Order: sequence, then structure tokens, then C-alpha cells
Amino acid sequence: MLEVRGLTSHYGRIQALKGVDLLVRPGQLVAIVGANGAGKTTLLRTLSGVQPASGGDVLYGGRSIVASSPEARVRAGMSQVPEGRQVFAPLSVEDNLRLGGYTRTRQEIASGLQRAWELFPVLHEKRALPAGTLSGGQQQMLAMARALMAQPRLLLLDEPSMGLAPLLIVEIFRIIRALVDQGMTILLVEQNAHAALSIADAGYVLETGRVSLSGTGAELLDDENVRRAYLGM
Ligand code: ATP
Repeated sequence: MLEVRGLTSHYGRIQALKGVDLLVRPGQLVAIVGANGAGKTTLLRTLSGVQPASGGDVLYGGRSIVASSPEARVRAGMSQVPEGRQVFAPLSVEDNLRLGGYTRTRQEIASGLQRAWELFPVLHEKRALPAGTLSGGQQQMLAMARALMAQPRLLLLDEPSMGLAPLLIVEIFRIIRALVDQGMTILLVEQNAHAALSIADAGYVLETGRVSLSGTGAELLDDENVRRAYLGM
């Protein structure tokens, strides 16, 4: 579904991505793990098109999208949930979701809302409240539900566990896995390597802009270097 080849990206003279190769197959949950500053956010931003690539290629469904606008990528079925959630705090939960469906018809928005309420019952309870009044975990759910309103085929998640209490992390990762089990394809970027690799079909370790290691989630969880560097063992 997504194939990244030799992707590079720069901030001025700083090279944040130094030739990244990776593959996301349809129906897979793929996790990118790595330390602070490894380039995880830059990678997601380059895939969604908000950060330009300086070299390499991104194939989505076999076609190069590396020069496409972020809007064109959303229309083609790629939807990103940004780091830090970024919900529209003064707007109601429901209006946040409606905004997520801006590329969709009224009927699709109605069925999208229905699906969001089923996946996240707590959002239905709070649908009329300003999004800013939700807890951190609920805002993370709202950000995911909002991205799903665009009916993506590929969901890009940036650090969904950031700032959440341990119990909520378990809940969010359970929902992420459930989405994949229902047929969604997800590329997940996480500093919480253990949580991410535990639910991932495949994983990549990013180190200073390069993939240093890849394998199944289970293989990486078992890897001596990963355990020492990212799992604190
Ligand atoms: P974090 O978990 O802290 O978000 P990350 O793995 O997502 O880390 P990036 O944020 O992608 O890493 O950063 C990769 C590199 O690019 C770092 O060296 C960082 O300092 C640099 N960088 C990121 N954003 C900018 C920017 N706007 N201008 C200049 N350099 C940047």
C-alpha cells in the first residue's frame, strides 16, 4: 500500500531523513520506533506532504505521490493524526468530527459519525461539549476519530501515547489494533517502543534519520539492541 524508497528531507542544511526505505502492506499495522530527534515526526510529515521531501520516492498504491499536495493525499486516502492531537478546543466534539469529513458528502459524514460513536462511545456522550474540555485520552480518541471521518485507507498516527496515563495508553493501543483487525492499514510512530511493537505486525527502528533495524513486532521486541536501547532492559 505504501512504499518508501530512499526518502530524504531537510530543514535548511539539517538533514533529518537520510534515505529511509520502508514498506506497509494493506491491512498491516507498522510501527516506527526511535529516540527523541530520530526523525519520526519528520518522516510522518513528509509522508503526509506537509514537509517536502528533498529526495527519494513515496509510492502509494503503486503511484508516486512524493510531489502531491497534502490535500491530494487526503483525497487519495491518507489521513494523519498529528502529534499533540491538535483538536479545535472551542468547537464541540461533533463539529470537530464534521470538520474531519470536509472532503466527504453529507451522507458519508452521517455514517462516519455513526461509526465514530460506535468506536468511541465516550465521544458520543460528550458530543455537544467543547473539545477543549475533554481529557488527554479523550482528545486523542477525538483526533483519531476525526482522521477516520475522511474515510482513509491508510492512517498515519504520530505518538498516540504521548502524555497519556498508562491505563489510557493500553486503551488507545487496544483501539488501534482493533481498527487494523477491522481492515484499516496503520503506520504508527511511537517513542513508547514496547507498546507499539507489542501490537505491530512489522516495525522499523529509526536512528538519526536512518532505518537501523527492521522486522516483525515480535522480532524487534526480542532483539538484544532494541531491548537495551528502547525498552530499558
Ligand atoms: P520527537 O519524538 O522529539 O518528535 P522525532 O524522532 O520525531 O523526535 P523529528 O522531530 O522528526 O524527530 O526531528 C528530526 C531532526 O530534525 C532532529 O535533529 C530535529 O532537531 C530536526 N528538526 C525537526 N524539526 C525541525 C525544524 N522545524 N527546524 C530544524 N530542525 C528540525
